[in-house]
Amino acid sequence: MAEAGPITIAGAGIAGLTAALSLARKGFSVSIFDQATTLSEVGAGLQLSPNATRVLETLGLRPALESVWQLPETVDLADGKSLRRLATVPAGRFARERWGSPYAVFHRGDLQRILLEAVSNEPRCNVTLSQRIDSGGPPAGHGLQIGADGVWSKTRNHLQGAGKSRFSGNIAWRMTLRQADLPSFFDISRVTAFLGGGAHMVAYPLSGGRFNIVAISKGAALGENWNSEVPDRGELQRAFAGWHPELTALLRHAPEITRWPLHEVTDGAWHNGGETVLIGDAAHAMMPFAAQGAAMAIEDAFELAHFLANGADRAAALQAFEEHRRRRIARVRSRGAFNRFAYHAAGPLKLGRDIVLSLRKPQSLAGDFDWLYGYRALD
Ligand SMILES: Cc1cc2nc3c(=O)[nH]c(=O)nc-3n(C[C@H](O)[C@H](O)[C@H](O)COP(=O)(O)OP(=O)(O)OC[C@H]3O[C@@H](n4cnc5c(N)ncnc54)[C@H](O)[C@@H]3O)c2cc1C
Repeated sequence: MAEAGPITIAGAGIAGLTAALSLARKGFSVSIFDQATTLSEVGAGLQLSPNATRVLETLGLRPALESVWQLPETVDLADGKSLRRLATVPAGRFARERWGSPYAVFHRGDLQRILLEAVSNEPRCNVTLSQRIDSGGPPAGHGLQIGADGVWSKTRNHLQGAGKSRFSGNIAWRMTLRQADLPSFFDISRVTAFLGGGAHMVAYPLSGGRFNIVAISKGAALGENWNSEVPDRGELQRAFAGWHPELTALLRHAPEITRWPLHEVTDGAWHNGGETVLIGDAAHAMMPFAAQGAAMAIEDAFELAHFLANGADRAAALQAFEEHRRRRIARVRSRGAFNRFAYHAAGPLKLGRDIVLSLRKPQSLAGDFDWLYGYRALD
């Protein structure tokens, strides 16, 4: 086991909480800090593919997760204008059989609550909320400091050579509806991504009779913050003008919509060989086109514990961690870039995409995801 000293984690998001649990399981003691007074995120769902649910199950969270997750039957692509289904990837029971763990959808707040409860019950972990970490680093000092403080990480400021976050030119619009208020064409047993020129919209069920919709379009950044309420829906309506009238009506009438400018971190160091390492969005925030940001945060957290538990010393462990994770993140990022191109295609490109998709059978499409969903994070 590499000598890590006292470990402090900045950020009790999905990466930070999963890291705390994974490290405690390997015998490390951890203090974790978050600036938030309570950990909750309003109006946002999360899809978690089997590569990530496998980690959560290994950490013993399956019984708690079963009470909140929904397991969609399929993940579908559909045309945003005609609503015609273009392609189907099987999920449901198929996912557990093929990839070993479920393809799940949640309310993100439910996942964070379950992770926080598990961390709070773990004697080796100590959680402090309402504690902002500034650019000088976490308060404890001396031991290993894990920056899990998201895309606008302050930990990055004291890591030489670290990357910077950059606005991607895209906005996510998020809303949660009651299933009872949905137009009849929505199938609440599936995840559906509706595609259109320069924009797409992903819809899926949540527990408690709720339904999550996230719409992604081009747009302007309005500073480094998320979750701002949308006073005027003109920008959103223009981005989806010409889409199927039932979808545009939904964007007009949804009771509450929040606007999330999407930022990325695409380069820079993740560790300094000594006291600091970044994981999750702090290291490599990516666009949500492959729905893998949280999944990668979970894999990072779990595999960091593996490398620290098995490395000869801390520097070697961090180096091996970064090399190993960079390869995986690069591949996932290029899958996201491919999806962005395919999802937002217009004109002849769209025509070509639709023809290619119509020729693919669900089982054959599933095979494209074996490397991603069938991945077994190092334990
Ligand atoms: C619209 C949208 C849809 C998405 N959909 C999916 C999806 O379906 N599937 C998927 O896998 N991923 C998805 N993602 C990506 C996913 O949300 C992120 O990759 C994931 O939340 C990253 O987790 P994290 O713990 O690294 O960062 P965060 O979740 O951002 O957590 C960072 C934590 O650090 C805390 N913090 C920040 N600064 C400080 C500070 N200075 N001091 C102390 N604490 C601090 C914050 O309060 C927060 O709790 C989506 C992202 C967006 C924007």
